[in-house]
Amino acid sequence: MRAIDIHTHPPAEPGTESENREAGRSYFNQTWEMPKTPADMAATFEKLDIVACLLPVDNETITGKRYTGDQWVAKIVDEFPERFIGFGSVDPHKGQAGVKQVEHAVKELGMRGFKFFPNGQRFFAHEAQYYPIWEKIAELGVPIITHAGHAGGGSGQPGGGGLGLRYSDPMWWDDVAADIPELKIILAHPAWPWQEEQISMLVHKANVFMDISGWSPRYFPEALVREMHTRLQNKILFGSDHPTLSVDRWLQDWKELGVAEELEPKIFLENAKHVLGIDDWPEKQ
Ligand SMILES: [Zn+2]
Repeated sequence: MRAIDIHTHPPAEPGTESENREAGRSYFNQTWEMPKTPADMAATFEKLDIVACLLPVDNETITGKRYTGDQWVAKIVDEFPERFIGFGSVDPHKGQAGVKQVEHAVKELGMRGFKFFPNGQRFFAHEAQYYPIWEKIAELGVPIITHAGHAGGGSGQPGGGGLGLRYSDPMWWDDVAADIPELKIILAHPAWPWQEEQISMLVHKANVFMDISGWSPRYFPEALVREMHTRLQNKILFGSDHPTLSVDRWLQDWKELGVAEELEPKIFLENAKHVLGIDDWPEKQ
């Protein structure tokens, strides 16, 4: 295995295409072909010798549509266990039902983490009502990956597709990271316009990490590239955001960034294994 891509999205479950996904398509200027089936997507990652984490989003209380993403991801991982790692998601507004949902996702469906999208799920992570969910996830020993910074979905639409940006200020999670030090939190993407805040959190909290998905490496800010070479080399995880941003294009642009080669084993594999708690994987499988 060459790498773990910590941040990809499964092909839409038949019948669940969303409008914001379409808006995202134009924001990211997507010219590549979208995977129509899990098999398409597995083939892409197989060619690259990369294992991909599949991230769904549960925003059932906002959309009113029943969430089936965990089951969909579990089904895909069942079919391609060598190629994918499953993440679940939970709408934080579900309260105790949400606590049960995360427990079920890990114990019954084999999920290895949880994805949150605060803009779409409309929550501020530091509020007390959500803590039972954060605490349960910590107890289960799996990480949280949360969207941070600007949202590509809805970008350029009237009202930004209804997505408020304040929700994804990473600093809301700083309180959570301080209160539950055993909970690993991955801030997804360079968190523009809060990149300085993000770097500060990464330096300050041993349990906070970031993935570098969703942006072509061509546009990485200088500070991020500098930190990657120095004090944050154990905190940064490769992610593409495929198929929102194609993994092929991401890797191509990475080569042009000129990051020191000796950092690649950490950024592409070791850091992710550590955060996922699978240091002995996949040999074990
Ligand atoms: Zn994403």
